[in-house]
Amino acid sequence: MDLSIVVPLYNEEESIGELFAWIQRVLKPLEWEYEVIFVDDGSSDKSWAVVNEMAEKHKEVKGLKFRRNYGKSAALHVGFEAARGDVVITMDADLQDSPEEIPELVRMIKEEGYDLVSGWKKKRYDPLGKTVPSKLFNRTVRLVSGIKLHDFNCGLKAYKKDVVKNIEVYGEMHRYIPLIAKQNGFEKIGEKVVQHQERKYGVSKFGIERTLKGFLDLLSVTFITKFGKRPMHLFGGLGTFIFFVGFVAAVWLGGHKLWFVYCGIKAPLVTDSPYFYISLVSMIIGTQLFLAGFLAELISRSSPERNRYHIAEKIL
Ligand code: UDP
Ligand code: MG
Repeated sequence: MDLSIVVPLYNEEESIGELFAWIQRVLKPLEWEYEVIFVDDGSSDKSWAVVNEMAEKHKEVKGLKFRRNYGKSAALHVGFEAARGDVVITMDADLQDSPEEIPELVRMIKEEGYDLVSGWKKKRYDPLGKTVPSKLFNRTVRLVSGIKLHDFNCGLKAYKKDVVKNIEVYGEMHRYIPLIAKQNGFEKIGEKVVQHQERKYGVSKFGIERTLKGFLDLLSVTFITKFGKRPMHLFGGLGTFIFFVGFVAAVWLGGHKLWFVYCGIKAPLVTDSPYFYISLVSMIIGTQLFLAGFLAELISRSSPERNRYHIAEKIL
């Protein structure tokens, strides 16, 4: 199969029929073998009935329905598992992403050899409360990840099949798919300016709280990439440093006291010195960090992921 289009949807009954008709119109002249996988993320409206109706009439339509709303990442995850095409496209169901972009995206994957091509909504039709935080968000992610994309969270993306079969999107990590792909060794990541429309029907499913969640997730993603498999290097490193500071303070304090005693001068109380508190707090925190490191090692040791590597090619 040439192409799989994965469409996560949550209460988009008015949009999906129109979206599928548009996809058909664009792909018809190309004569590709393709499938459109609608993943109903626990909609409470008639979306699933619409998907059923379309599936009866068109063999290209596939559908998966969650029993409840799990979120966009979960929907993408099961869509990726089901996808059979050599190229996989994801797009939002709300008609904000244009199917006209599909042929060019597929060409970039197939002919230019990209692992992943992300859409860039250069001219965006969203409210200001969404576009401004988004600029800040993208700048931060660019800085942290070193991936030169302008629009990490764009719903319209294209992937080589290998990528979607080897990465795992969970929680709300759909914002960071390019990072997750890069962590897994898919380094050729490109970008294409795409058309964007105003939402035609329904309402946005994400509120302003997405900004905070997004930044917290960024911390997790970077932490897990760097230290997920060797947490002791972080906690142990920090713990050693802080313990050392406390230890030096304690030695200094003890030495000071002994010197006074040795010289027969009346020594001040150890508890009067600020170093006493510094050494106490530092040594406790340092030990705690060490313990956190050991616990994290135990956890990562029992993770089924601990020896999961992607073998790109084989000669056996
Ligand atoms: N979506 C989903 N599950 C959710 C929230 C959203 O599958 O819990 C889908 C939604 O139906 C749409 C896409 O994710 O197809 C993007 O959502 P939305 O258009 O609300 O996001 P925005 O355009 O505001 O970023
Ligand atoms: Mg939208």
